[in-house]
Amino acid sequence: MKEEINKLIDLQAIDLKLKTLNEEMSEGVAELEKRKTVIEERRRNIDRFQEKLQVFEQRKRELELENEEMATRIKDRQTKLMNVQTNREYQSLLKEIEDAKKNANDAEEEIVHLMEQIENLQTKISEESNVCKAEESLLAEKTSEVENHEAALQKQKDKILKQRNKKAKGIPEAMQRKYDTILAHRNGIAIVGVTDGVCQGCFMSIPPQQYNNLMKGEDLFVCPTCQRLTYYLPAEEE
Ligand SMILES: [Zn+2]
Repeated sequence: MKEEINKLIDLQAIDLKLKTLNEEMSEGVAELEKRKTVIEERRRNIDRFQEKLQVFEQRKRELELENEEMATRIKDRQTKLMNVQTNREYQSLLKEIEDAKKNANDAEEEIVHLMEQIENLQTKISEESNVCKAEESLLAEKTSEVENHEAALQKQKDKILKQRNKKAKGIPEAMQRKYDTILAHRNGIAIVGVTDGVCQGCFMSIPPQQYNNLMKGEDLFVCPTCQRLTYYLPAEEE
């Protein structure tokens, strides 16, 4: 049993290396994902600005048409004014001209306001697009960096996995299954030392009788608190 426990301890050391490698790999991927999310958010902003811009431009075209109509109406009423017969007709035409001029004025004011907003939006769109482009080229750069790094990490990982397979061969299947299950559920640490009666995985004391048995190193015990496999690990001498 002692020999098998030692093999499990070795396996744990290998698995810790693998864990570190895996974490490093997912860090790279996570960083790329973060960059992508920021760019997507910018793209959505640009889309929103574009939609607004279209609405404003449409409104501006409508007002310009309205203005043309008003100009035609004013011209028409002014011509009629020359051939007017009665005072009542004259007053009514004057009123129509006045109303048309007021409408044209209002439209003109709104057009000026719209033009300001349109210009603002166009500036924002072009700024945001430039930032987007810069971030996209940086993302491409980072992506190839991460890919190169991943490839190097993968090589290391393959090497370590070979070592792991070799080491795992000497461990009984049931024991290994148990180890693997705990490894998956206990944050990559399946077997821990117990020093001075304290589990080094969860730092809780284990019952004295179990500790006595553990010290003999003849059987595999599970920590009653964190459920990890345990082995006796003497305190380091000063
Ligand atoms: Zn524990």
